[in-house]
Amino acid sequence: MSHPTPEQLREDAAQLLATIDPSALKPRDRMAIPVQEMPTQDPDQRVCNMEEVAVGYSREQVILESLRCLQCKNAPCIQGCPVSINIPKFIEKAAEGDFEGSIAVIKESSLLPAICGRVCPQEAQCQLYCTVGKSLRDVEKSVSIGRIERYVADYERENHLVKMPEPAAPTGKRVAVVGSGPAGITVAADVRKAGHDVTIYEAFHKPGGVMVYGIPEFRLPKSIVAEEIENLEKMGVTIETNFLVGRTRKLTDLIDKDGYDAVFVGSGAGLPKFMKIEGENLIGVFSANEYLTRSNLMKAYDPEHASTPIYESKIVAVLGGGNVAMDAARTAKRLGAQKVYIVYRRTEKEMPARVEEVGHAKEEGIDFLLLHSPKKIIGNEKGRVTGLELLAYELGEPDASGRRRPMAIEGSESILEVDTVIVSIGNDSNPLIKKTTAGLETNKWGNIIVDEQCRSSIDRIFAGGDIVLGAATVILAMGQGRTAAQAINERLAQEN
Ligand SMILES: Cc1cc2nc3c(=O)[nH]c(=O)nc-3n(C[C@H](O)[C@H](O)[C@H](O)COP(=O)(O)OP(=O)(O)OC[C@H]3O[C@@H](n4cnc5c(N)ncnc54)[C@H](O)[C@@H]3O)c2cc1C
Ligand code: SF4
Repeated sequence: MSHPTPEQLREDAAQLLATIDPSALKPRDRMAIPVQEMPTQDPDQRVCNMEEVAVGYSREQVILESLRCLQCKNAPCIQGCPVSINIPKFIEKAAEGDFEGSIAVIKESSLLPAICGRVCPQEAQCQLYCTVGKSLRDVEKSVSIGRIERYVADYERENHLVKMPEPAAPTGKRVAVVGSGPAGITVAADVRKAGHDVTIYEAFHKPGGVMVYGIPEFRLPKSIVAEEIENLEKMGVTIETNFLVGRTRKLTDLIDKDGYDAVFVGSGAGLPKFMKIEGENLIGVFSANEYLTRSNLMKAYDPEHASTPIYESKIVAVLGGGNVAMDAARTAKRLGAQKVYIVYRRTEKEMPARVEEVGHAKEEGIDFLLLHSPKKIIGNEKGRVTGLELLAYELGEPDASGRRRPMAIEGSESILEVDTVIVSIGNDSNPLIKKTTAGLETNKWGNIIVDEQCRSSIDRIFAGGDIVLGAATVILAMGQGRTAAQAINERLAQEN
């Protein structure tokens, strides 16, 4: 299939928009406007670089896409948004070309729109409820809410229009935030706005959480996250990196010894799960977390600037079918692997990865070995990976997750030659904070238990994001950050 160039898409949009009188559009005319495809880098070129795959709408494209919105009075899209952005209102402004007004509406509810516009699973959230998609019986024909959000957020940033909120007068209260992912960033901003002194403690040498060490540059440019962090610092938030709470300092010491009035724990779910099969200790086996961290945070893709090299691979198998697996596979391809397989024991229909990410991976030549799962990893006398012993699977009745249960086919063993295996079957929370904090209640997966205001079992300690929800999403982490910040602000206001 030929890949339309960004120029073609922009040209088509400009020509179409020139024929439209927005004031005369009836609902059926709006629904007849074609979905504006996201311009992307050519697949053959982009596998040779780390730059962003999606290059963004043009002005004409964003206006056309916004004109597809019916401005539904009941706005069902809003119920699909975890932070309840006023979607019709920001789209209406975008349709008028008032991009500054549009981003102002989004920012009433969301702190990180340039990030959410890129990485939120909109097809499972706001766009799933969109009347246009429902009427056309195809969620892919819903109004592209995320792409419009991305455009107006980029417009604000690129035109230096970002307005920093002015923090309230100093209250003399101090709040510590553990972890600088989307949950921690959101709490830090909202608590700082109320006039409290805020310090973020981050274990890594760079702040940003998964947005920096997990999600690759080609999906989320790190400069965007860096700018959000700079904005926090401009608001007066202090960030201390290389600070591992639980080792550098105990969680409760932050309150008992350092005098913080409240602590928010947003330490994420960074502990990779393994398959517990033979051969997982061989050289050439990585967790997706380690592989992506080496590439993203340690810049292994840029050998001139990387301080640590990454394993050179020719044939890679990525085990798993989620977004993280797609990120690992596409990263391996960019790092020079000649062949990359996604090995997944169900079919594409059951894959948890976003349809868009699966499509991008396919365009980039990733092979999908479906209905297969490894029995063991095979190595040579030097302890290096040489292959995978696979079993073929078939699908049975749906299991508790609602997906059809994969069942191994006896005697179906086969060997796949690979030199690298990347395990991407999910993450748990790191047990360090739990182990070093007496009285902190967690569930059986090690996630911190909180109430509806994100209060933990220990007074003054709040928690949110993946450490509470398990591996979830950026927007859900942000949403919990908002809730926790409000609870902290209310608590500290009572003590004034
Ligand atoms: C590869 C990958 C791709 C993903 N893609 C998407 C996507 O496309 N869309 C989406 O919505 N979500 C995606 N997610 C999930 C999303 O990134 C997370 O749900 C989100 O980042 C969780 O935010 P958080 O703030 O809770 O934690 P995190 O982002 O994990 O941040 C936690 C931070 O806490 C720090 N930390 C941990 N322990 C300590 C400690 N003891 N002391 C100090 N600091 C500590 C960590 O170093 C980290 O920086 C992806 C996840 C991964 C791994
Ligand atoms: S549901 Fe779709 S068409 Fe209706 S207001 Fe929301 S985005 Fe617009």
